[in-house]
Amino acid sequence: MSATTTRRSFLVMTGVGLGLAPAAPTLAQDDIDVPTVPPPKFATVLFEGKDLSAWVARNGGTAGWKAMGGYMEVVPGSGDILTKQTFDDFQLHLEFWLPYLPEAKGQARANSGVYLQGRYEIQVLDSYGLQSKENDCGAIYGIAAPLFNACKKPQVWQKYDVAFRAPRFDVSGLLTEKARVTVVQNSVMIHDNLELPSTTGGELDKQIEKPGPILLQDHGNLVRYRNIWIIPVK
Ligand code: MG
Repeated sequence: MSATTTRRSFLVMTGVGLGLAPAAPTLAQDDIDVPTVPPPKFATVLFEGKDLSAWVARNGGTAGWKAMGGYMEVVPGSGDILTKQTFDDFQLHLEFWLPYLPEAKGQARANSGVYLQGRYEIQVLDSYGLQSKENDCGAIYGIAAPLFNACKKPQVWQKYDVAFRAPRFDVSGLLTEKARVTVVQNSVMIHDNLELPSTTGGELDKQIEKPGPILLQDHGNLVRYRNIWIIPVK
């Protein structure tokens, strides 16, 4: 087949020349839940689907979210939850699910967040199909937009895989290297060894020299999480 014929066949297939709009690219994968990733043998399981025993409220009291059916769900107004355990360097895996809120706009659209060491928020939001900004899903809130918009549609399970390197200090306590993070969303790298110049809003504290927990944000929406595990590196 000649190049001309091939091109014509392509145009016919896509409807060009027939008065039809070209077919939209199929994005079937955006409708499909990520397969759940079992914790490797080195991992500390932070949530396996049944109970919130590894978690507390910000005031140290009982975590107020619901655990059911293999996932946990935000109970709006009950507040953020954080792990009892704290971490320095780590690899984190978690899966999340966003409600579909067609009437909501911007930051009201299925907002939550994953705070590394309780200090650096990876935004959780319904940003499907948008040109991602530094407050959209996958952004390090207010610091950096994701390299790609790797979001799936709401009501579909997604995942974050995170490698976090805590800041380094010399013997006198002077900061020598800022924190760094690599984030992979739904198998796409959205931050590549990004330096974190500061903590992000709503952080637990600014004591960056200390280890910190994983904190999940209650922003008033019925966001779900499942299968959360972490591998401490240091
Ligand atoms: Mg948030």
